[in-house]
Amino acid sequence: MKVLVINCGSSSLKYQLIDSETEQVLAKGLCERIGIDGRLTHRPTGKDKVVLEDPLPNHTAAVSAVLGQLTDPVNGVIADLKEIGAVGHRIVHGGEKFASSTVLTDEVVAEIEKCNDLAPLHNPANLIGINACKELMPGVPMVGVFDTAFHQTMPKKAFLYGLPYEYYEKHAVRRYGFHGTSHSFVSKRTAEILGKKPEDLKIIVCHLGNGSSISAVEGGKSVDTSMGFTPLEGLVMGTRSGDLDPAILEYVCNKEGITLSEMTTILNKKSGVEGVSGVSSDFRDLGDAAAEGNERAAVALDMFAYRVAKYVGSYAAAMNGVDVISFTAGIGENDITTRARIMEYLGYLGCKLDAEKNNVRGEERIISTDDSKVIAMVVPTNEELAIARETVALV
Ligand code: ADP
Repeated sequence: MKVLVINCGSSSLKYQLIDSETEQVLAKGLCERIGIDGRLTHRPTGKDKVVLEDPLPNHTAAVSAVLGQLTDPVNGVIADLKEIGAVGHRIVHGGEKFASSTVLTDEVVAEIEKCNDLAPLHNPANLIGINACKELMPGVPMVGVFDTAFHQTMPKKAFLYGLPYEYYEKHAVRRYGFHGTSHSFVSKRTAEILGKKPEDLKIIVCHLGNGSSISAVEGGKSVDTSMGFTPLEGLVMGTRSGDLDPAILEYVCNKEGITLSEMTTILNKKSGVEGVSGVSSDFRDLGDAAAEGNERAAVALDMFAYRVAKYVGSYAAAMNGVDVISFTAGIGENDITTRARIMEYLGYLGCKLDAEKNNVRGEERIISTDDSKVIAMVVPTNEELAIARETVALV
């Protein structure tokens, strides 16, 4: 079956058409600046990339342009829309309602709408994408795959905050965690590569990208994760602060004369390694700047590795041990120096890096020494493939 995977943001839409039998990507692409002017970059496998600057006034127009390119006589990869057997939608927040992927019936869509409050920037955009697809591909089964679902197995001691309990009961304030599709995919793949069952392993997955999170996966289930009520908590990220003393918010708001909402934007968009370094959120730029003697870039990189190492330590404690540490996403898969810097902290676990094996980018590989007590690995994530698999399994 051919599955269209859609990841819809407020002004963007990423897509991949995947053949579920061969698991090959037939085409992928990105619509940007939806509602502003519009640009569609379409990459059909084995053919030239196409960039269209046609107006995309709304998401329905974007989906329509994507379907047009997929079936285009020159740039297309299928002859007819009927070849698309199902659509898998990435949905950011499923609240406590969705602990697994689900077929998107009208009732389910209404339930997802109820989660909009919890992810006001993302869920409404995801729903717009669903509705646009329903309009243009009536009758094609659609599946929702939630970023939060994999972490619904966390126990209460891990997901509750030390706040009045009524905030959990009345307002659903708790840790949800994100990147669940990636943590699930990478932990399963880790077990597969090692020829073991997920049930027999304690795995720490380090999803280190522009947004970063870590999870503790025991017996195939997420038992803790670093992102929280929103993706702001946890690691120091590209532009997100991660953990901090909540009292800082009021203090800085008063000192700077800004509102809480402005401060929240700063915590999400102007903080993290970019805020600390004043250079960039991209680890390649930070590495270059640090090599040229930029002290703030160097300290930002140190802070990142230090925070990752502290989380790894706390999750080893949470699971009373760890068998494997898997690195994934942009930084985890590609940044050799950052992986090495993190691993320097983990000697006490008996986790030893093999510098030569670590010299790898974007490839599945064990990077620890043969006598290392804890295995360290690079396991590239593939959220689109995970969504396609979930979709096929449900339709
Ligand atoms: P997201 O999906 O959260 O936007 P990604 O997982 O694509 O992020 O990761 C993007 C980040 O990965 C970049 O900002 C950059 O810091 C890092 N990155 C990508 N390639 C490399 C590389 N070769 N070396 C170091 N860092 C890299």
